[in-house]
Parts: sequence; C-alpha cells; structure tokens
Amino acid sequence: MSDLDLKPGFRECGGRGDASGRPVRELLDPREASLGRTVVRRLLPNLGRRMVGAWCFVDHYGPDDIADEPGMQVPPHPHMGLQTVSWLHEGEVLHRDSVGSVRVLRPRQLGLMTSGRGIAHSEQSTVPHPRLLHGAQLWVALPDVHRNAVPAFEHHADLPVVTAPGLAATVLLGAVDGAVSPGTTYTPLVGADLALTDGADVRLPVERDFEYAVLTMSGVTEVDGVRLAPGSMLYLGSGRTELPLRALGDAGLLLLGGEPFEEKLIMWWNLIGRTQEEITEAREAWMSGDRFGTVQGYDGVPMPAPALPATPLKPRGRTR
Ligand code: MN
Repeated sequence: MSDLDLKPGFRECGGRGDASGRPVRELLDPREASLGRTVVRRLLPNLGRRMVGAWCFVDHYGPDDIADEPGMQVPPHPHMGLQTVSWLHEGEVLHRDSVGSVRVLRPRQLGLMTSGRGIAHSEQSTVPHPRLLHGAQLWVALPDVHRNAVPAFEHHADLPVVTAPGLAATVLLGAVDGAVSPGTTYTPLVGADLALTDGADVRLPVERDFEYAVLTMSGVTEVDGVRLAPGSMLYLGSGRTELPLRALGDAGLLLLGGEPFEEKLIMWWNLIGRTQEEITEAREAWMSGDRFGTVQGYDGVPMPAPALPATPLKPRGRTR
C-alpha cells in the first residue's frame, strides 16, 4: 500500500533513543488517512512514537463492506529502503510488481516485498471480491548493509502456527516460541497474528531485548492489563519475558516487535533513505521512469509522486 498523503513531510525515524529500555504501556492514537475511498487508521509513524524495532509504518483498515465498491485500488507506486508486509483478515488483494510477481493474497497469508534500492507495485481488490475487506499494511525498514538488496516478492501461504488454550499465533516474521516464519528478515524482529477466543487468558513468551507493540484488529482485549478496543495500538517497551493477554470475546491482535533500530532514517512518501538528497534522487527517478521498473499488466496510470516539502528536515526528539 502507499502513503497517499498529498503533502508528506520528511520524517526522521530510528535511533536507540527512540526505544524504551523498560516495560511501558503507551496507548498510541490512530490518525485517520484516506486511501482512495478507503479510510485507514495510521498507527506508525505516530506523533508519540515512530518505530517499533524495524517496524516503521502500520496502517489498519476495515472491516469495510465493499460489496458494491471497487475496494482497494492502489496504482503502481515505488518503494525504497524497506519491506512491505501485507496481512489480511478478510478479503482478497491482487499484488503486481515490477519484478514480475502477480499474486492473489488471502487472509492469513504473508505478502512480503523487499524493495531494496527500488521496486514498484500495485494492489487491487480482486474482481469479483469478497464482501469484506479487513487488513493491515506494514513496512519494515532495511538496515544500511541490506538496503540495496535485490528487489523480491515472497508469498507464504503456509505459515507456522503456535497454539495454546484460547490462542492461535500465526508467525508472519521472525519466531514465536521456537516456531520460525519462512519470511526473509534483515534485522532481529517478530510479527505475529494472535487469534484469541472468548475468555482466553494466556502469557505469551517474548524476548527481553525486543521492544513490542500490539495492535488490536478486532474484539476487545486486555494486553498487560490495558484494555484495548479495535483499531488501537499499545506500545510496550522492552524488558519482558512474557506478555499477559486476555480476550473479552473473540479477538484478533497483531504483535510487532524487534531489537530497537539503531540507525537514523528519513521517511518521505513511500521511500526511506538516509539523506534528503537520496530521497530527492529517488523521486526524480520514479517520475522519469527510471530505477523502479514497470508494473506489467496494470490497467491504468502509475501514481505520481507528491511535491517535496519546501522546508528541510528538522530532526525531532523522541516524543514529537
Ligand atoms: Mn506500497
């Protein structure tokens, strides 16, 4: 998916100072953004927190009834310096990219695209498509040593699932309780879908050195004693070896975690770089049809890049 903000500013992210070295419970308010006719709730980057491990972008959308709508319609757009993670609870999305991938993504299947230096993709609801669309779109920042990795797309339909009474944890990336995702990662991190049944009361083993956040996709839960409604995200910091989870009704959570990301990044639109010059160059490359390749088979016009902000990047502190 794409950052469709018409006037995106430069955002500086990362650095260990952004992470909490101890357990905390910080509720992150979503910011509504529109993606065509779809309203998404943006949890990262957030005014109060910009990254969780290498996770640097989290949009939650739906569940939306799109029976009489085109649904998701995101034209070709570029990415640089990151991996995109597509995760559905409901619906079907057709992914096409400039390395020739054409795949239909279905609920609880991992769509993982590594941009490296440059890739382009489109995302569309299938025709016909299921009535409901519900999912999350996430980005993982690539570390400097791997950010020029060969662009690639992985589709993993058969992910490991860890079960306990009341819990089924599907491992998107990294590992949970010894079960390892086949998805390629470039920093120590984890992403897991936690399906809880009504009345579940479990303690999930977690890594002491990772920082974590939990997004509630559906249902009402209590995470480390904090009640979460659908669409809200709780930042947890680090320093835990287990995470208490309770479900008040059936619920679906997304657990995101990782080693605090040490490097400073500049995020602008759909691009991640280290300098403004790099971002400016990448924008020009996209607009002139260089570097990012062509999304074959997409019927329509690629997404133009927005204008660069007039004001230079102002480094910001931890909470603003
Ligand atoms: Mn995208």
